[in-house]
Amino acid sequence: MKVPDAILSIAPYVPGKPITALARELGVRHAIKLASNENPLGPSPLALKALQEILSELNRYPDGGGYELVGKLSEKFAVSPEQIVLGAGSDDIIAMLTRALLMPGDEAVMPKPSFLMYDIMVRSASARSVRVPLKSLAIDLDEMAAGVNDKTRMIFLTNPNNPTGTSISKDDFERFLNSVPAEVVVIVDEAYIEFVRDPACMKSIRYIQNDRAVVVLRTFSKAYGLAGLRVGYGLMPEAIAALLHRVRQPFNVNSLSQAAAAAALEDNGFLEKTLEVVHAGLDFIDRSLADMQIRHFPTQANFLLVDVETDADEVYAVLLRKGVIVRSMRSYGYPQYIRVSAGLPEENERFVEALGEVLRP
Ligand SMILES: *Cc1c(COP(=O)(O)O)cnc(C)c1O
Repeated sequence: MKVPDAILSIAPYVPGKPITALARELGVRHAIKLASNENPLGPSPLALKALQEILSELNRYPDGGGYELVGKLSEKFAVSPEQIVLGAGSDDIIAMLTRALLMPGDEAVMPKPSFLMYDIMVRSASARSVRVPLKSLAIDLDEMAAGVNDKTRMIFLTNPNNPTGTSISKDDFERFLNSVPAEVVVIVDEAYIEFVRDPACMKSIRYIQNDRAVVVLRTFSKAYGLAGLRVGYGLMPEAIAALLHRVRQPFNVNSLSQAAAAAALEDNGFLEKTLEVVHAGLDFIDRSLADMQIRHFPTQANFLLVDVETDADEVYAVLLRKGVIVRSMRSYGYPQYIRVSAGLPEENERFVEALGEVLRP
């Protein structure tokens, strides 16, 4: 079998460990998962209701154009339906962008570390990732701009960034946008934008109106609590959306996901409750770690980075056996950091207690 070198260069994505896998592999029961930045409250109740109602229609193919969900997004963000592309998670939209826009040998600039799917998808297209190191945990926009050359087709920005939780200010973004050639597509991944508390943080929707090749990626996997259904969307200039529709699988977002997402989008009560619980959770973890003098970093997302000052893989493994699933940041280039998502109050307490047992026995 002859396999492209580009594919052989890809390391498979390693997701956070599911609770069921922990039970199966280590026999640990009643574990909590604070590893994948999921919504600790469960799915939106309105989404659950919409799912019940659509079950009897599962013999039919989905609406490939996603009429209802696209319509609601179009209204909410005051963009035309032609500027919206739905995806099976924002992962799917990243895949469409790389498939539609990259030729072998082209380049894509991205932060390092950041979301691993950018690099995986760029490599899948036999294109080259130019990975620009963060500076003090934040995206270094000057160096990102300096990484652009005549082979560059796209730039990935993550706002707030995963795994560091830092955000990009409006002023810095505008300066950056003016410094890169107009034909380079700037993709802003806003998977965690709903959680942002810093008023200076940039929200990129307005820029897609100005004829700039800006693509905004958003998801129902985090604040809306629908990670298991795989649904996200991109907002972008019509010309880019039209290209993505050429490579999009016709029924990429299934009917359950469409119905649940459309309902969740209107569940303002659930979103408010989510933000309340997540922000209170982050503040609790912040205070508790400060009390134990465990170094950690400010965040605009629903997770935070903790400096365990020892091998993060080991701390991860010990926490696993205590039934607390977090993420070691070794593979992201931080061998002494772990990332923890804000959970329910009792989950956050359990995390803090378990970490204290490990680091401050
Ligand atoms: C979780 C996450 C996503 C969302 O991925 P989905 O495919 O929509 O579940 C996208 N980008 C980043 C940076 C993430 O952390």
